Amino acid sequence: MSIKENLAEIKADLPKGVTLVAVSKTKPNEAILEAYQAGQRVFGENKVQDMVQKWEALPKDIEWHMIGHLQRNKVKYMAEFVSLIHGVDSLKLLKEIDKQAQKHNRVIPCLLQMHIAEEDTKFGLDEDELNALLASSEFKQMKHVKIMGLMGMATFTDNENQVRKEFARLKSLFENLKLQLPEITILSMGMSGDYGIAIAEGSTMVRIGSSIFGARNYS
Ligand SMILES: *Cc1c(COP(=O)(O)O)cnc(C)c1O
Repeated sequence: MSIKENLAEIKADLPKGVTLVAVSKTKPNEAILEAYQAGQRVFGENKVQDMVQKWEALPKDIEWHMIGHLQRNKVKYMAEFVSLIHGVDSLKLLKEIDKQAQKHNRVIPCLLQMHIAEEDTKFGLDEDELNALLASSEFKQMKHVKIMGLMGMATFTDNENQVRKEFARLKSLFENLKLQLPEITILSMGMSGDYGIAIAEGSTMVRIGSSIFGARNYS
């Protein structure tokens, strides 16, 4: 199936109000353009360098989302244009985003990444760390970042019940956070293998790569 057909099939599955981030990491500009021609405007990358190159080369009405683990020293390269940073998992990182956004006179929308998976390897905050971050005076002083919601990744497993449980937990963290920050709207959860479960559990944004572009080829 073509990229265009894959996109059409996935979009038919998405309820209204769920945003599709087409994860184009490792994929060439031609593949992104094919999706663009089919109407897709939101793309996700996990390496800053790659995202900058693609931003420079491709149409300027593309919204670029940084979905990967982010190093502080890389924030400056994308502060001018990034639309949403999904993987914010420390106050230090948020401070750097605030600083770089200020240089470009903008407010950068961010999601806080929560650790919901069983594996130790997945990044993210736990509930106490989330609360500490939000309660800190440093956070309260930031004027150039806007927390739009939460992001999380479930355990990579065939056990659907476990995945469902982890997404449900993230949804409940999201609802709790909404009591403090009523303006948040984005719950980023769900990838190619688990987006059906994520949507059933209340996702408002799915990040889908291989089901659109085919398997990745890391060389
Ligand atoms: C690669 C990646 C995705 C997309 O994964 P697929 O399984 O190809 O859909 C989603 N989210 C994050 C954070 C990723 O790194």
